[in-house]
Amino acid sequence: MNRKRHIFGPVPSRRLGFSLGVDIIPYKTCSFDCVYCQLGRTTNKTIQRRGYVPKQLIISELKDYLVEDRDKVDYITFSGSGEPTLNSKIGEMIGEIKQMTDIPIAVLTNGSLLFEVEVRDGLRNADLVLPSLDAVTQNIFERVNRPHEGLVTEKTIEGLKKFRKEFDNEIWLEVMLVKGINDDRGEVKRMADVISEINPDKIQLNTVVRPPCEPLAMPLSTSEMKEICKMLSEKAEIITPRARKALKAYEKDIEDEIVMLLKRRPCTIGDISNFLGIHRNEIIKYIEVLEEDKRVVKRGHGNQSYFVVSEDEMRSM
Ligand code: SF4
Repeated sequence: MNRKRHIFGPVPSRRLGFSLGVDIIPYKTCSFDCVYCQLGRTTNKTIQRRGYVPKQLIISELKDYLVEDRDKVDYITFSGSGEPTLNSKIGEMIGEIKQMTDIPIAVLTNGSLLFEVEVRDGLRNADLVLPSLDAVTQNIFERVNRPHEGLVTEKTIEGLKKFRKEFDNEIWLEVMLVKGINDDRGEVKRMADVISEINPDKIQLNTVVRPPCEPLAMPLSTSEMKEICKMLSEKAEIITPRARKALKAYEKDIEDEIVMLLKRRPCTIGDISNFLGIHRNEIIKYIEVLEEDKRVVKRGHGNQSYFVVSEDEMRSM
């Protein structure tokens, strides 16, 4: 089990196979505060780029990992507790990691800072960049992403177009759809036009499948997702749940540790993460599996989501 602070996983990812997460941002430091964010509310909403986590710390944790465990990883993925392009050293980190390993490097980004030339330059050595674009109209952008006040959707779109022109490797654009917020068919048509101008290699549609930050952030049905997928582009695809069978044995020990903990007391994702010393994003993946298996259930209390062991699981103990 990996107990490093800034490297987590590898976690099964619906888009990237087994992904080793690299977290270079303090918890919930982000330029957005998306209604669907599974990490909770943004506590430091900023567009200021800084060396939030030192490069040498990341490199040394990663070196240890690569010595211990390297053959399980499909991608080394910059993702985690906030927006990775806010770390001004991301480009140098990608460059050094490329010298250490031939595992492909992916970057998950909300795309909001791609209008800055330094951000685009920083990502140029990545093998794959997965930006998001959830709205092309300012008021919808504000409702779904609740961006920093310095951000406007035109600039995000302009940044994505420039990045497409300059970046030689693949760009997979993610669109997260939230019921009643950005699924208006007029907005979808406008988004289709913008996406065709951006011309990403893939367009991946997602909806709220994980415990979101706001209980009001609801998923679209499968038929609605299919309809929007057709409207958006021939290249669009719906992100499907990953193949569970292959992951089962791998996840079992940690799954059981989480269930044992929840048997003792209800916990938030943060509680489980702190108790087991495993990164929040990794815990979220296991909770997703445990919910699908009906071993744990979510309960809302105040504005927090707690997880408890299901009645079926209790009976089987
Ligand atoms: S989903 Fe991503 S971009 Fe949105 S608030 Fe969470 S970390 Fe930031």
